[in-house]
Amino acid sequence: MPVSSGARLATRTYTGAVRTIVLLGSTGSIGTQTLDVISSRRDEFRVVGLAASGSNVELLAQQVIEFQPDVVALARAAAANSLQKALYAEAERRGWSEGGYALPRLLLGPDAAAELAAAECDVVVNAVTGAAGLRPTLAALRRGTTLALANKESLVIGGRLVVDAAAPGQIVAVDSEHSAFAQALRAGRSDEVRRLVLTASGGPFRGRARDELRDVTADQAMAHPTWDMGRVITINSATLVNKGLELIEAALLYGVDYDDIVVTVHPQSIVHSMVEFHDGSTIAQASPPDMRLPIGLALTWPKRMRDAASPCDWTTAASWTFEPLDDATFPAVELARRCGRAGGTAPAVFNAANEACVDAFCDGRIGFLDIVDTISRCVSEHLADGHVPDEGLTLDSVLRADEWGRARAAELAGAMS
Ligand code: NDP
Ligand code: MG
Repeated sequence: MPVSSGARLATRTYTGAVRTIVLLGSTGSIGTQTLDVISSRRDEFRVVGLAASGSNVELLAQQVIEFQPDVVALARAAAANSLQKALYAEAERRGWSEGGYALPRLLLGPDAAAELAAAECDVVVNAVTGAAGLRPTLAALRRGTTLALANKESLVIGGRLVVDAAAPGQIVAVDSEHSAFAQALRAGRSDEVRRLVLTASGGPFRGRARDELRDVTADQAMAHPTWDMGRVITINSATLVNKGLELIEAALLYGVDYDDIVVTVHPQSIVHSMVEFHDGSTIAQASPPDMRLPIGLALTWPKRMRDAASPCDWTTAASWTFEPLDDATFPAVELARRCGRAGGTAPAVFNAANEACVDAFCDGRIGFLDIVDTISRCVSEHLADGHVPDEGLTLDSVLRADEWGRARAAELAGAMS
């Protein structure tokens, strides 16, 4: 299999009616749903590159055989051999003879996804999980490609760096709430917007008091009531850290002040978010919880994709409820607001400490409440010493803050177990 580990990809020009897609994080929840959307629309899209970390080579091999990308990027170089074996096994399973299919070029190593993100294509879908998405996000933006962004962490931690690298409209949100904002914002002028109303399902522990959360397990936290997602975002939805990340994501994407974004709990996850205009009108975007709708919209933005997902059923009775967020039990959103206002490297520490704590919680080393308590402590320490404000922000300072937040949270978690 041809392998390249550092050289720029040879560029290939894709023009015409077919949109060419590079999909980063193809084996994850968003990645597989993106391929699901594309699979029934082969005349509209062509997948030219796939990237994954390498923990599920069987699934990746199925995707490669199915979509025939030109290039595959693997973060774990050691997984290359297993991928090759899985590819031959998958081709054999389908009864294909040797030579009956094209093997993709392979990019290997921690920078492989970023290298692929800089390849020529119409849309890069960044559905990698966590801070590892930052370099690919910057690479796609610098190349000038439309970025369908699921990996909110890269925008949150990169902050001004990512915003300044993006041309107007270059980032299209995949996150359902931010897709809802984009849709609702079409209803008025930007100077008519009063505030953004960010909806939250409330997660599996909605309605509980803080004391009732002390002993909850990772299995309980993984049981999300309305969405089926990857591990990190599911735990983040239980702690409300996800809503905190989304608050910062909304402020950065739409240039809205932190005072003008309010969070409301909407357990049915049908209204994906709302925009309130200065005449008192509120425009909501509603659809059953199905990520294929915002994924489809991000692939074809500003046009809509016909039948991307099922609409609401108005022939049966339904009720939608809204309630304020219990900030005393779920302090993650206010902590994120503090980090967002501080800007610079504060959101990177918020996210990095969280990623370390999610691992520690899932391994049974810390309790559920320790997650946000530990993030809060890391953020306070960082703001007191080491914080770099927006004006001095560089990729290096973001990466250093990320490394520090991860290490400090792991150290604090270690002292608890
Ligand atoms: P998953 O954990 O299900 O999938 C993550 C994907 O990223 C996998 O394909 C994984 O590969 C890949 N990956 C991890 N590290 C790297 C790396 N260094 N280089 C290349 N690929 C890598 O996550 P989700 O799909 O749930 O979430 C992805 C992103 O989308 C997150 O930022 C999340 O917050 C966001 N999001 C998700 C939603 C959802 O419904 N799931 C909704 C809204 C936003 P491998 O399988 O090989 O490990
Ligand atoms: Mg969301």
